[in-house]
Amino acid sequence: MITKKLRDEIALIWTFDTHEHIYPYHVIVEKKPTIFEILEGSYVSWITRIPKKGDYTKLAKCLRRIRGNAFLRSCIKAIRDLHGVDISDFSELSLKEASRRIMKAYLNEDWQREVFKRARIEKCILDPYWNIWIERYDKELFVLALRINMFLFGYNREARDHNGNSPYLLAEKLNYDIETFDDYLCFIDYVLKTAKERGYICLKSALAYDRTLRFDDVSEEEARAIFGKSEKELSIADKKKFGDFIMHYILSKADELSFPIQIHTGLALIEGSNPLNLVSLFRKYPNVKFILFHGGYPWTSEIAALLLSFSNVYADLCWLPIISPTAAKRLLMELIEVTGGRRIMWGGDCWVVEGTYGALMMMKKILVDVLTYYVEKRYLTVSDAIDIASAILRTNAKEVFKI
Ligand SMILES: [Zn+2]
Repeated sequence: MITKKLRDEIALIWTFDTHEHIYPYHVIVEKKPTIFEILEGSYVSWITRIPKKGDYTKLAKCLRRIRGNAFLRSCIKAIRDLHGVDISDFSELSLKEASRRIMKAYLNEDWQREVFKRARIEKCILDPYWNIWIERYDKELFVLALRINMFLFGYNREARDHNGNSPYLLAEKLNYDIETFDDYLCFIDYVLKTAKERGYICLKSALAYDRTLRFDDVSEEEARAIFGKSEKELSIADKKKFGDFIMHYILSKADELSFPIQIHTGLALIEGSNPLNLVSLFRKYPNVKFILFHGGYPWTSEIAALLLSFSNVYADLCWLPIISPTAAKRLLMELIEVTGGRRIMWGGDCWVVEGTYGALMMMKKILVDVLTYYVEKRYLTVSDAIDIASAILRTNAKEVFKI
């Protein structure tokens, strides 16, 4: 009874999705999407090697081996709901049928909008790391986050972040000359200010894929001395110092421009991705809103403790429900108890809308399970539970991003 009531109410909530990498329609359609692209765009390829497109025998075999994986389970649900095919038997026949229907669906230019509508996603924040100055995207569905990784790699023109991005390539595109260290800092100012004018609503760090999340205090003189040195002249420690200085510089600008910052925590380069590494930043920039991604997995309780300790820290559960629904459930309970239901949000973190749909259905199911438990235990009333669900899926994010 309680479960049904909550399931029905939560299904009706229009979500504000805080994080996606969804390819614009003109990009995805060039890939001629089939079941192969959908599995790749929803992390199944992180768990098993997806065979060459068209090899359904091998694909069926690969999927059967990982049948308990949460990325795959959420994908199965999405394909069933959106394309009307059940691939959970992992037969070549159903996988081929799924491909046929996916191809047909993508003939419709409005397919992404259609899926958003069916999932009840009002809008989402796009992190287009493959082109951070993106111009062609669906402005009705997306608002932008500005990926900052590349700026920490500006010590010379050859360096690249893990996505192959360099600030000098962006400067070239924007016709901006960088010769000196002062020019470089001015360029960062210019990009952030212009991004604000272009409607970017937050900054995004995926630096956990590039380096440790520990950012020490480094003087301007030290960073200036490192600037312009060649790869041969630089030690790993020099590169880290330069990045540390720039991160602090960006955060001081984020403070001036009122940019919240989304930060990937957990997994990635796992020896340096513990969210506790960021504590000195939370203290030093009390006016900056730090949104910690992925529940810091596997350091999920650390995230709840950080929210209790710092009022400028937020938890974004993006990606976590499809990494491990159990971890997501556990963290969600801790977060609700610690924050009362505020400063928590959700994003899908996928490249294709099918992935996003599956991730949202997983998140909604987790919300139903957790909130049913609290109502049954008389910890919350049904109306408390609905209020919390709608805060997590919608209003908390809208407040932070002022949308
Ligand atoms: Zn992401």
